[in-house]
Amino acid sequence: MTKTYLELIEIPDFHDRYEYLKITGQVGNATFGSRRYLNQMLYKYPEWRRIRNIVIERDKGCDLAHPDFEIHNQAAYIHHINPITIEDILNRDPKVLDLNNLITTTFDTHQAIHYGSERMLPKLPIERKPNDTCPWK
Ligand SMILES: [Zn+2]
Repeated sequence: MTKTYLELIEIPDFHDRYEYLKITGQVGNATFGSRRYLNQMLYKYPEWRRIRNIVIERDKGCDLAHPDFEIHNQAAYIHHINPITIEDILNRDPKVLDLNNLITTTFDTHQAIHYGSERMLPKLPIERKPNDTCPWK
């Protein structure tokens, strides 16, 4: 594997983590369209749900495991840091369930990683002040 979770979490900035993970060129294009099928295959993997929960817990429910980007009101997705193929799933390749190849993310960030749609990345949380009565503004 060329990229690893342990290397990723050494990167302090969220956007830099995205840059580290993003899939450019042919790889991203090749997986386009087959992603839904890939996920369906994964859910049939007996160990997948267990590993998935371990990853989300390890990452404390944060997008790209970044403490400033807790995931609220949306589903957590698991991204394979080094992309996997249908064949990897069928052959039970270790990288499918390798914790060092898995990272928690959101649908939007995941789209950005795979298809380069950077505007889907989350913005830094707005800093709140003690007497802020409209924290959502
Ligand atoms: Zn992915």
